[in-house]
Amino acid sequence: MPRTSYAIAIGSNRWGRYGPPVTQVQDARIFLSEVGRVTASSPVIASPPLGPSRRRFANAVILFETMLDPPALLRALKAIERDFGRRPGVRWGARVLDLDIVLWSAGPYWDRTLTIPHPQFRKRRFVLDPLLRIAPDWRDPLSGLSVRQLAARARKVGHKVDRARLRS
Ligand code: ATP
Ligand code: CA
Ligand code: CA
Repeated sequence: MPRTSYAIAIGSNRWGRYGPPVTQVQDARIFLSEVGRVTASSPVIASPPLGPSRRRFANAVILFETMLDPPALLRALKAIERDFGRRPGVRWGARVLDLDIVLWSAGPYWDRTLTIPHPQFRKRRFVLDPLLRIAPDWRDPLSGLSVRQLAARARKVGHKVDRARLRS
C-alpha cells in the first residue's frame, strides 16, 4: 500500500487513563504518530454533547499520512481507543476517546465495517470547523463540495436551527 493521507476526527467527553478530555485528544495525536505521520493538527475545540450523554466534548481533526489501508487503519484506531480505556457501550454515550476516519486521499471506501467519507461528517460542525482550519480545499468525493463549502453550509443550517429555537 503506498503512503496516503487521511483526515481523522478525534473526540473525548470523559476522563480516562490520560486525564481530562482535552488532554486525551492531544495525547491521541502522539499515539497516532506511532502508526503514521501527523502532518497537520487543528486546535482542540469544545462542543456541546451529542445524543444521550450530557458531557461536553473536546474535538480536533488531524491530517495523517500512513501506509495503512482503511481497514488496517480502523484496526489501529480501535486499538488506540482501547488503550485509552474505551469499552464498548452506548453509541454517542460518554466515551474516553473516539477516532473516526473522515476523509481519505484515495477517495471513497466501503466495506462491512467502514464507510469513508464518514457518513455524518457533512452536518457535524465539530468535525467541519476544525477541518476547515487545516484542509479548507479538500473536496468531498461524493458531493464534490470543498470543506470550506460544507462548513459554510453547516453553519447556515445551524443558524436556522438556532432561530427556530428562539421562536419556539
Ligand atoms: P458515529 O459513527 O455516528 O460518529 P460513533 O463514532 O459513536 O458514531 P462507534 O461506536 O465509535 O460510533 O463506531 C461504530 C462503528 O462504526 C465502528 O466499529 C466502525 O466499524 C464503524 N465505522 C464505519 N465507518 C467509520 C469511519 N469512517 N470511521 C470510524 N468508524 C467507522
Ligand atoms: Ca464518532
Ligand atoms: Ca467512532
